[in-house]
Amino acid sequence: MNLYDVAIIGSGPGGYVAAIRCAQLGMKTALIEKYSTLGGTCLNVGCIPSKALLDSSHHYEDAVKHFEDHGIEISGEVKVNLEKMIARKQAVVDQTTEGINFLMKKNKIDVLEGLGSFKDATHITIVKSDGSSEEIEAKNIIIATGSKPSTLPFITLDKERIISSTEALKLKEIPKHMIVIGGGAIGLEIGQIYRRLGSEVSVIEYMDRIIPTMDKAQSKELIKVMKKQGVKFYISHKVSAVGRKGNEVTITATDKKDNEVSFKGDYCLVSVGRSPFTHGLAIENANIKINQQGQIEVNSRLQTNNKNIYAIGDVVSGAMLAHKAEEEGVFVAETIVGQKPHINYNLIPSVVYTWPEVASVGKTEEQLMEEGVEYKVGQFPMRALGRSRASGDTDGFVKILSNAKTDEVLGVHMVGARVADLIAEAVVAMEFRASAEDIARMSHAHPTYAEAVKEAALAATNDRALHI
Ligand code: FAD
Ligand code: NAD
Repeated sequence: MNLYDVAIIGSGPGGYVAAIRCAQLGMKTALIEKYSTLGGTCLNVGCIPSKALLDSSHHYEDAVKHFEDHGIEISGEVKVNLEKMIARKQAVVDQTTEGINFLMKKNKIDVLEGLGSFKDATHITIVKSDGSSEEIEAKNIIIATGSKPSTLPFITLDKERIISSTEALKLKEIPKHMIVIGGGAIGLEIGQIYRRLGSEVSVIEYMDRIIPTMDKAQSKELIKVMKKQGVKFYISHKVSAVGRKGNEVTITATDKKDNEVSFKGDYCLVSVGRSPFTHGLAIENANIKINQQGQIEVNSRLQTNNKNIYAIGDVVSGAMLAHKAEEEGVFVAETIVGQKPHINYNLIPSVVYTWPEVASVGKTEEQLMEEGVEYKVGQFPMRALGRSRASGDTDGFVKILSNAKTDEVLGVHMVGARVADLIAEAVVAMEFRASAEDIARMSHAHPTYAEAVKEAALAATNDRALHI
């Protein structure tokens, strides 16, 4: 039987990054994945394919709606070839997952294809798709089995008309009317893709605002812009039933006045969150505990109640984000060899890749109010930037929240072009515990979107913004 220093179950961004770091640190490493392609949700049916379709649909929308403003005339009709668009997305996915195979070989990591399950706390059985199995022994085991789409108790995902993000990323036709349940990252990103391609899109959200975990100002700005783009929103609506007759789906909900409303469409995307995935792992054979949310319970070192078994990524508590899973993968690898790594969970940025993009790090204004922290706000609108006017991307703002006494930056919240990339500056500043004035005094290239960060920092520093 093969003996490994570490075996990792699941090859998503948590698992494969953990494997690379373990190998870099000199451990004999195995990576177990039930599917034939590596990369997990993120590379196969998540981050990468959704961004490929967001980019393709953005190009189409620019060609149809915005090229003319730039003096570019297209003679003849601009058409979408959905089949080709989806095939391109798949090619991007294939190239990316192939890249992970290369990285595994380069780092001499053994990739074992099959469903991994615990025989006991140090032995894993791997059952391949042909029914054959093998067993390995590992001194340390990392569970990185990720998550799967959640649904509501009364909804059955038929995967044809009542679908999750996985099916929405490979539709064979452009929906006439896509009804999206849930105004979080998935609902808004996929809703925007199909709105751009010509679908009517209605988003039904249970809370009183979309992207409810982000700063309220971001929710307000994004809903305003997406309404202008033609997406319809029904907030404070509680869905009570979802039915299908032939190609028609009917969604019933109650609004905030308790009136029953119904929506008819040809596709219903259910995007109400994701649940941790532990099915088939046989964790009971290793006495591993899960909590009420189905997450594997871990301590601050990401150890389960078996010291040699760790868990990371979507299967444990915290933000369900690829880069959070990656940080945890590195953290566990370094912990195993006795290093003392650290993750600042407050500074894991979150991004929604709609256009305009939405990006956040640190505390929201609502959190600071709740915690009773005295703070200052500096906000700068994108429309006041030369760069934004040049590109025509004038929606959004940068908002910096800093401590009222010390001026330390506590939260940065942005909506606008390329803010998914701009948020990195805020993370660096906050990791170094910068004050708003520190950012305000640093030179930012002109003309760039990044100037909005400097201006917002100036605004937080005694209202000193220069260009408004
Ligand atoms: P996963 O990526 O879910 O990987 C788990 C792997 O474990 C899977 O490959 C699974 O097959 C395997 N596995 C499970 N059980 C077993 C077993 N018993 N044996 C063997 N293998 C097993 N996050 C971002 O940060 N940015 C984004 O832009 C973004 N976009 C997203 C878009 C969509 C549509 C979706 C659905 C998600 C998106 N996410 C995004 C979230 C991101 O995909 C997840 O947070 C991330 O993939 C979690 O990584 P993970 O390694 O914990 O698990
Ligand atoms: P989410 O938690 O981001 O959003 C779910 C939304 O559905 C919330 O706004 C919630 O209030 C709403 N909701 C819940 N129950 C509802 C109900 N009964 N009726 C109506 N609305 C309801 O979840 P998601 O969008 O499904 O995404 C799943 C996970 O994947 C998230 O954790 C997210 O972070 C991750 N993800 C990240 C990105 C990104 O980083 N850009 C993109 C896609 C997915």
